[in-house]
Amino acid sequence: MIPVFLPLNLKVTPKSIIWALVVLTSAMVLLTGRPVLAQSISSDRQNIEQLAAAQEQKVIAWRREIHQNPELGNREFHTAKLVAKHLASLGLDVKTGVAHTGVVGVLKGELPGPVIALRADMDALPVTEETDFPFSSKAKTIWMGQEVGAAHVCGHDAHTAILMGVAEILAAKKDRLHGTVKFIFQPAEEGMPPGEEGGAELMVKEGVLNDPRPEAIFGLHVNSRTPLGRAGYRSGPMMASGDDLKITIRGKQTHAALPWLGVDPIVVASQVVLGLQTIESRQVNILLEPSLITIGTIKGGNRANIIPDSVEMSGIIRTFDQGMRKDIHRRIAETAQGIAISAGATAEVKITPQYDVMSNDEKLSEFGGKSLRATLGDGRVFLNPKVTASEDFSAYQKVVPGFFYFLGVVPEGTQPEKVFPNHSPKFWIDERVLKIGVITMTNLALDYLSAK
Ligand SMILES: [Zn+2]
Ligand SMILES: [Zn+2]
Repeated sequence: MIPVFLPLNLKVTPKSIIWALVVLTSAMVLLTGRPVLAQSISSDRQNIEQLAAAQEQKVIAWRREIHQNPELGNREFHTAKLVAKHLASLGLDVKTGVAHTGVVGVLKGELPGPVIALRADMDALPVTEETDFPFSSKAKTIWMGQEVGAAHVCGHDAHTAILMGVAEILAAKKDRLHGTVKFIFQPAEEGMPPGEEGGAELMVKEGVLNDPRPEAIFGLHVNSRTPLGRAGYRSGPMMASGDDLKITIRGKQTHAALPWLGVDPIVVASQVVLGLQTIESRQVNILLEPSLITIGTIKGGNRANIIPDSVEMSGIIRTFDQGMRKDIHRRIAETAQGIAISAGATAEVKITPQYDVMSNDEKLSEFGGKSLRATLGDGRVFLNPKVTASEDFSAYQKVVPGFFYFLGVVPEGTQPEKVFPNHSPKFWIDERVLKIGVITMTNLALDYLSAK
């Protein structure tokens, strides 16, 4: 924020205050291209609060309906149908089957203005839910050829219901709405079945950001680490890039008591695991951005008295900077191969990029923060620490500036042992977050649209 100093001999009269405001606003328009001050105060917050309160039970019912019918990535048939039917009933221009099961609704306001996009994700996870609400998921589904439980343990059911609520409020204001709102309901944020494309990247590939192209996109995520009624965000890199890592070490099989007659891939794999940990701790500049490499699986051998032929390892890589990401990829390959060569083994390294760094646009973050503070109150919006989880909202941000924020779902004072992270089978949300989600997102949209 730029401090503004007033000349000491300025005579303060009502007229001079008005002139000062006019000059200040014009200066901000000139400086930023947008009337920043107007953006945080243009939505009638009392009215939005009333509308959201009136529709709250409906949003809760949608969330429960989706929660009881969880669907994995690229299979969100029931959810997409519910969304499409609702958007059509509001008179939106609706497109279905985008990136498999995605739904896109376009609401054209009757007043001139910019185009923005609001995004929700619809998919659940292959997890057996362990909560005991009347609407807890009992669903079963097929994942990687096996029957598993399915549940909304990341809260995407809440995101979908919230955006359905926002669409309803904005559609009701169509005659006074500036510009156009694109509602993007996206499949497969958590990933898709092997061999399939999906998620935000496929939505973008199929043209979701064209025709009309939004100049800004907004999204949110419910988060059990944040207290209910609070929101967190940060400008710049907020969530990590996510890459999958697979390493195959090939040695030479021999008797476990005659190791010199072969090449032991288990010892090599052990050295590789430790060697990889020196990349972040010894090789990259930790003052720039954090990064991490985790080896999550290691498989080799089937008998205590045989040194096996090969070992397979898999893991993940997380970074917050594209340059560091590339550099770490190179170092992983060099470390694994160098260690393998020193023992007479080979290392095959396969890195599969999954998610890019989720980075909030600087100007949009300034605006988004103002809007959130005006809605929730100054003390309820905080600078979110970087998150090492990933989010494919980054795929939209590569094309248009985006703003993503977290909303708390656990009431303050809840005993820590009753708080479960996203993806835990015991993950739960306080449904009051649904109304908060509707209000914050609606105000973001209205503040942005009516500022032009
Ligand atoms: Zn998730
Ligand atoms: Zn998620």
